[in-house]
Amino acid sequence: MKEAGYKFDAIVIGAGPAGSSAAYTLAKKGFKVLVVERGRAPGSKNMFGGRVYADPIREVFPDLDKSAPIHRWVTKERISLVSGGKMTSIEFEGGERVSFTTYLTELSSWMAKKVEEAGGIVLTEITVDNLVMENGRVRGIKVGNEEVLADVVIDAEGINRLLLERAGLVPKLSPSYTGLGVKEVIKLSKEDVERNFGLGDGEGMAWLFMGDVTGGLPGGAFLYTNKDSISLGMVVMLSSAVERVKEHISRYVERLRLHPLLEKYFRNGRIMEYSAHLVPEYVWPTIPHRLYGDGFLVVGDAAGLLLNLGYNFRGVDFASYSGYLAAQAVEKAHSMGDMSAKNLSIYQELLERSFILKQLRSFKDAPKMRENERLYGLYPYLVNEVADKLFHARYETPKLMDAFKDAKKGKIGWFTLIKDLYEVSRSI
Ligand SMILES: Cc1cc2nc3c(=O)[nH]c(=O)nc-3n(C[C@H](O)[C@H](O)[C@H](O)COP(=O)(O)OP(=O)(O)OC[C@H]3O[C@@H](n4cnc5c(N)ncnc54)[C@H](O)[C@@H]3O)c2cc1C
Repeated sequence: MKEAGYKFDAIVIGAGPAGSSAAYTLAKKGFKVLVVERGRAPGSKNMFGGRVYADPIREVFPDLDKSAPIHRWVTKERISLVSGGKMTSIEFEGGERVSFTTYLTELSSWMAKKVEEAGGIVLTEITVDNLVMENGRVRGIKVGNEEVLADVVIDAEGINRLLLERAGLVPKLSPSYTGLGVKEVIKLSKEDVERNFGLGDGEGMAWLFMGDVTGGLPGGAFLYTNKDSISLGMVVMLSSAVERVKEHISRYVERLRLHPLLEKYFRNGRIMEYSAHLVPEYVWPTIPHRLYGDGFLVVGDAAGLLLNLGYNFRGVDFASYSGYLAAQAVEKAHSMGDMSAKNLSIYQELLERSFILKQLRSFKDAPKMRENERLYGLYPYLVNEVADKLFHARYETPKLMDAFKDAKKGKIGWFTLIKDLYEVSRSI
């Protein structure tokens, strides 16, 4: 760590996808950039499910396809509704390959290496304790007793955003706006991954689950196939987990792995890793009104820029692209003479014009809809009961509507059903 007195053009807090994308874009343009990461290696403190959407990241890192740690391109999507010992699934194959599976630790390390190749400095195992503030302007970072100054600080500290909270720049995150993610990585041979999931060489699967696999907690479970392992886990609302979970949350993932309909996929598997992490859930109200100020910008999860629709999860690409836009804003502000809030406000405009804020605005009701507990209990049950009646005919096959009426009898009225359908169709 350099002594106070040395000044960088930009300091980036956190070597996750958001921070490294901002730093890489700036370093490539000749800015003196310092990235400070508290983990032992970039990404070692991060966690995610397993799938990344490629296009936005390719715009930031054009040689993504050539050198990034891509495990498998997702060629098979499956969504399953689970209730008790029954599961109804829809599956999609074909179309273009737009997302890939990876480990976030590997992807973050690859991005940080690109920062260094472009001339930026990445320091690990250093925790930023505070922002250096002067008359409401961010001047740098504080690590222990040392201060390091910069024209602009890009906060990419992830969802916990303690530094921003401490500096009074964002409100405290409420549990009702936050999800809890838990995940196991299960080691299998490459051949077992391909055989068990019906995949060819380099092909991958994204499998999402709704129903009682989350033990009745609002949320969903996921499975992604890596090169020679499986990422299996779930994201549940933190507020309901705090109220209802009476045992270690890892037991929930263990039960998912041992589910009678699923355990055959992991036979011969060995648990390599267990992790848990918070995730922004109810995103729209948690996004600070302003993601910029005098001498600072906020990117990625720290800014609440993440979209979880259940059938897709866009965190890494949103984070990376927001870092890229922040770097463009810094470049513009630099050409205008200083890093004042006025000049940096171009970042907000760039976000507004990009897919990021358009998508978040258009899906702003999706998290609210996910609070409806019928989605996790009653509806998977109804779908499975109807499927059971239609597919497992003994003598007579019922008509679809009769099977449905029979399944729903005494469980839900038409009015509530239509209202739920209407809300789902409006929000996702
Ligand atoms: C369970 C779960 C499943 C997910 N699944 C997916 C998925 O399948 N696909 C997807 O695209 N997204 C997924 N996400 C979201 C995705 O992981 C995040 O959106 C993404 O990692 C955000 O990147 P970031 O750079 O903003 O933050 P992070 O990746 O969290 O990086 C922040 C970095 O800042 C560092 N840091 C924090 N504080 C300090 C400090 N004071 N000093 C120094 N360093 C600091 C941290 O160590 C960390 O490395 C998932 C998240 C969870 C929790």
